[in-house]
Amino acid sequence: MQVVRGVADLKSLRSKMRGKYSRVGLVPTMGALHEGHLSLVQRARTIADQVAVSIFVNPAQFGPNEDFHRYPRMLDQDLALLEDKGVDLVFIPDVSEVYPDGYKTFVSVEELSQKLCGMTRPIHFRGVTTIVLKLFNLVQPQFALFGQKDAQQCVIIQRMVQDLCLDVGIVVCPIVREADGLAMSSRNHYLNPAQRKAATVLYQCTEWARQKVAEGEKQTETLLSEIKSKIGKEPLARLDYVAIVDENNLSRVTFLQEKALLAMAAFFGRTRLIDNTFLEPQK
Ligand code: AMP
Repeated sequence: MQVVRGVADLKSLRSKMRGKYSRVGLVPTMGALHEGHLSLVQRARTIADQVAVSIFVNPAQFGPNEDFHRYPRMLDQDLALLEDKGVDLVFIPDVSEVYPDGYKTFVSVEELSQKLCGMTRPIHFRGVTTIVLKLFNLVQPQFALFGQKDAQQCVIIQRMVQDLCLDVGIVVCPIVREADGLAMSSRNHYLNPAQRKAATVLYQCTEWARQKVAEGEKQTETLLSEIKSKIGKEPLARLDYVAIVDENNLSRVTFLQEKALLAMAAFFGRTRLIDNTFLEPQK
């Protein structure tokens, strides 16, 4: 496994990796790796000849009062996990090389970036699309893999790829969960035992909604008000938002006719967690 820190080193290695028949799969991450990240690596193995993983805690996607400085960083452990999974290349750029003095260019997917998580995190997705595009340019992968855990991110990146005619196949992988249903997240490290227990309310709400839809419920307001009430009853949770939206344009759905995305975010102490599921109404 090659570990590369500098952009110049990456470029020279890249030309060697991209042989005539070699397909590169890129898994962008912010590190503090868990089974969710590793599921993307495993999937990459099945579709690409070379697997590249980036580890970069991207300051551009954190707001001024968010957790950039305390975001978990555990590089040695991450590298051991990636080595074990047979990753070919790990790219760990320095902030000063990604955003050197005088850096001015950002990529923003309009409208989609302002909805859902964008209401609370107004610059977040601009930071995500900027770093993802930059990583695509640097690594030049044929495929890039993302987790459905960050459903809005997947929609926005797919939009960017389509809008900018990028030659990268986007592969979205299912959410990996803990045994009690909590979606795996590097931010779960922040939770104390009581918050960790309370955080399962998100998964319970997604499952409850899926069940109601399977029973025939189609009015999204009925589902949303019950989810608000369930989260409201959890004393350690503070709801940020819950919404049922079109899976492609993220606009609100009032009556479930097609598959739709149920997405939510809530704070447990200072820790903001997200979860989502697809709701598939009976025809
Ligand atoms: P992050 O390091 O949080 O930026 O995540 C890197 C990638 O891993 C993103 O594409 C995430 O959607 C994905 N990911 C994070 N958690 C999970 C999970 N529990 N299941 C599946 N994918 C995940």
